[in-house]
Amino acid sequence: MVTVRGNALIGSDLTFVQGVSIQIDGEGTIINISKERKPTKYVLPSSYVIIPGFINGHTHVGDAFLKDQTYGLNLEDAVGPNGIKHTKLRTSSREEKIKSIKNSLELLVQNGYTSFIDFREEGIEGIELLKDELERYSIRGIILGRQTKKDTLEDIIKVSDGLGIRDIFSVTQDDLKLIAKLKENNSSKLVAIHASESEEIIAESISKYGKRDIEIIGNYKSFDYIVHANYSKEEELKLLSKNKINIICCPISSLYNGLKFPPLELISKNKILLGLGTDNVLFCNPDPFRLMAFTLYNARSNNQNLSPKEVLKSVTVNPGLIVKKKIGQLEVGYSGDLIAIDLESNNLNFSKDAYSAITMRADQTDICLQMYKGKVIKWKDQK
Ligand SMILES: [Zn+2]
Repeated sequence: MVTVRGNALIGSDLTFVQGVSIQIDGEGTIINISKERKPTKYVLPSSYVIIPGFINGHTHVGDAFLKDQTYGLNLEDAVGPNGIKHTKLRTSSREEKIKSIKNSLELLVQNGYTSFIDFREEGIEGIELLKDELERYSIRGIILGRQTKKDTLEDIIKVSDGLGIRDIFSVTQDDLKLIAKLKENNSSKLVAIHASESEEIIAESISKYGKRDIEIIGNYKSFDYIVHANYSKEEELKLLSKNKINIICCPISSLYNGLKFPPLELISKNKILLGLGTDNVLFCNPDPFRLMAFTLYNARSNNQNLSPKEVLKSVTVNPGLIVKKKIGQLEVGYSGDLIAIDLESNNLNFSKDAYSAITMRADQTDICLQMYKGKVIKWKDQK
């Protein structure tokens, strides 16, 4: 049992509350939040604010070893089946792959992430490799695998948290029927897919199937969410909303690849849960602070109205709701994953708005306390 006392952003609306005690049991679950002054060694200074640990909505943690080798290339040459990434994966040793995954996990933890949702390559072998490494890190990996020549969709779903499908071209009509059946029998497993990422992909979908990829996917209720949606139109968003399919966007990755900034305001307006992820580590580091600031600057530049609080939700509350797990909120019954940020650090001092300060000024050096399932990972004030 551990208790942390301080100011905090509580619940699904990240409401600022002064002086609360957050009590986490031995299993790592928040069991009580109250104004009661319970005795604890974790009494935080009044300049600190406790927020939920960050959730990275979309990663590919296996490709860190290719950092900065694809800037200027098109998507196909970078991450397509015969591009730099998959050629490297096919020709790398297990040791090289482990080193690459470790680098990504170190970065995620050091940047304040307590969960991430990974689209894992290389079938069962890839899933097991990541699971083995995760045992040594204080972070939750939600692993969505994909089928290979050897491993079927059924094999993958058994050993993972669900399916992270590459794109509409990698599944047949029969696969889509099977996915619907698998989802029916295992409702806790997730099903997600990349969609509407580039104009080339959309054009290919139209030429093959007579429809845009997102239109096809939007009709399958078995999908929990899609990733990207950079070129989505309002009628497509309405279809997704109707079928309760949510969206994770990766704005840094999209702009790195010369693609469109996603229509974040329109997504939220259509009552779709919006999560944010950093995507492939080869494109950019998994850094929630850079992701939030980048998203707000670009939303403004694209005439999209998005508040700092909404953006903070999209890296905490919303991805937790999208994957239907008790994570991403400081709330009774949720996992005791939290970080505390010092609002009087040099970065944040004098700011009149905590949400703006956290999303547009903070960086990892402002994290004073970090807990994963109630266990301390970092505590600056430790005596
Ligand atoms: Zn991806």
